[in-house]
Amino acid sequence: MTGRMVASICPYCAVGCGYYIEVEDDRAVGIKYMPNHPTNEGALCPKGNAILDVLKSKDRLRYPMKRAKDDWERISWDEALNLVAEGLKKSLKEHGPASLGFLASSRCNNEENYLFQKMARLLGSPNIDNCARLCHAPSVVGLGGSLGTSAMTNNIADLANSKCIFAIGTNFAETQPLASRWVLRAKERGAKVVVADPRITSTSWMADLHLTIRPGTDMALLRGMMRAAIEEGLVAQDFIERRTMGFDDLSRSLEGFSVEEAAEACEVPVSDIRKATRLYARSPASALLYSMGITQHVCGTENVRACTDLALLCGQVGRAGTGIMPMRGQNNVQGACDMGAMAEFYPGYRRSSDPESIELFKVTWNAPNLPLGPGLTSMEMMEAAVGGSLKAMYIIGEDPVVCDPNTRKTRKALESLEFLVVQEIFMTETAKMADVVLPAAAWAEKKGSYTSMERRVQWIDRAISAPGKAREGLSVICEVADRLGLGFGQMDASTVLEEINRLIPFYRGMTKERIRETGGLLWPCPSPDHPGTEILHAETFPTPDGRAKIEAVRGSPPAEETSPDYPLLLMTGRIVLHYNNASMTSRSFPLLRREGDLRVEMNCADASGLGISQGDPVIVATRRGEVEARAEVTEKVKPGVVFMPFHFNGANVVTSDALDPVSKIPEYKAAACRISMRS
Ligand code: SF4
Repeated sequence: MTGRMVASICPYCAVGCGYYIEVEDDRAVGIKYMPNHPTNEGALCPKGNAILDVLKSKDRLRYPMKRAKDDWERISWDEALNLVAEGLKKSLKEHGPASLGFLASSRCNNEENYLFQKMARLLGSPNIDNCARLCHAPSVVGLGGSLGTSAMTNNIADLANSKCIFAIGTNFAETQPLASRWVLRAKERGAKVVVADPRITSTSWMADLHLTIRPGTDMALLRGMMRAAIEEGLVAQDFIERRTMGFDDLSRSLEGFSVEEAAEACEVPVSDIRKATRLYARSPASALLYSMGITQHVCGTENVRACTDLALLCGQVGRAGTGIMPMRGQNNVQGACDMGAMAEFYPGYRRSSDPESIELFKVTWNAPNLPLGPGLTSMEMMEAAVGGSLKAMYIIGEDPVVCDPNTRKTRKALESLEFLVVQEIFMTETAKMADVVLPAAAWAEKKGSYTSMERRVQWIDRAISAPGKAREGLSVICEVADRLGLGFGQMDASTVLEEINRLIPFYRGMTKERIRETGGLLWPCPSPDHPGTEILHAETFPTPDGRAKIEAVRGSPPAEETSPDYPLLLMTGRIVLHYNNASMTSRSFPLLRREGDLRVEMNCADASGLGISQGDPVIVATRRGEVEARAEVTEKVKPGVVFMPFHFNGANVVTSDALDPVSKIPEYKAAACRISMRS
């Protein structure tokens, strides 16, 4: 290694792994591992190891462009920024501020997200959201409602202290691979691992007990476990009395429900549900991990609350090795939510619907008429665009044309807009639909802070320059805001972080100097001498009475049932080699070579009944459309259930856009489908 080493953070998942980029002549020439990083200890997963391919890709957007009939015309930044300002101003003038929609990015840093939501709200639009809506909005709402804090309760490395790890609806060994090293460490120390997942996965290989529940029956399982815990006297009576409220309601709601009913619904043995309950409740320190298998349902928020109910019932919160661990997706999805890039929340989770809650921003931003929320969520923005009330959108670093469910509707929505601007690092499917495309700097080409899923706020400096004329997102937002008369001026990321420090109490002590020197602090960090907080809720919960709220939840069945026309149940999810829309991972040949097309896992019995063999080209059809895929005939899924990784364009043509009424997350995890040979 001869170049300069610049500490950086992986831009993929929310584990927040650290490493060094070796820089020579303003080029990223290599990666050096960071063994002293508290979360990944130097290791990186395949995506992290391939990360320089993104920076080196010839496909990076290099120049601002505007649509010119069926082609693109390269334009100057000045012209591009004027076009953006004019497009937004026109909608503002002709249709009012609610006609504007803003999609922030959980791939971008805290400062960009903070400033972007501030711009939206200063323009009078309440319609600001980010892709947490598609993955963990139920965690934000559900954990906030139960515990008073919308985040992972314990740090990732603390998993090594667990004596039992219960993972439901999460394949973290693939989706957050470096988190699994701490689970393996716990296992080496004798911890038991219980996994509830309809599929055999890399995570279930770690399990001492694998409950292969039917998709969409997580609530039945969680209620069955709570019923078993109460019946067998495994509840933490003292903890319940001292630190929670609502237990009696929950207990009553379970009276007419038996473990046998749960077992029947989940298609697993009664004895396994009881065994899982005993392992989880009796262990001196149990952690509960969940992810999109829990959240991406029409009862996603209730599912999250059922997870917290179980943990509270068993007193498995507030100590080392315990906790409720939402395994979150994108690198800065926690930060984007913390910064208020959400329809329901201003920065610091101040409710957008509560005038008193946002008084602080009216004063600080000198904006007496800030819009009250909740604004439109990302899915609601698409509905509003189709309906004609949303006229213009500014999208940063998101690709709804690939990532939304029922993407034909999303295409129709974006086609209906009068003006669309997309700020991106690659020409995504969404960018292809824009009127103006703004080329952005990637993570290593800008500075700023990111908040990982364990609430660790880390700072990174610019390692190299952005390609061509691409610019830092913060600078672009400032320029657009200035042209809209908001007077941001050119703000540096450190200056924006200082504003964040002042306005978000749990970020108050996270100055740039501190998070840079320490390698990251975990919020809440309420003062400049505070060390950060690794384990939440040790003594009390940040609720009005200091108690956690146990909620009697019952859930609801998936919006779509199977039928003779659509006899199979389709789930989608992530795999280790790719990330979200694969716009970044598909630029890496080693990753693409290992997995480069759409495939669908189906059980051997289903495949043989349909005359389908391994590798056959098939059509997956749902009530919304159809997509071609390659059949992977396997025992990893049960008969009647199929699974498709969602990274490649087309997968979400078939997924369901039925929404959880509370958090407005779509039900990606349950769509009735049929599979046939491609003719
Ligand atoms: Fe770490 Fe996640 Fe990046 Fe893999 S994708 S290196 S686990 S941050």
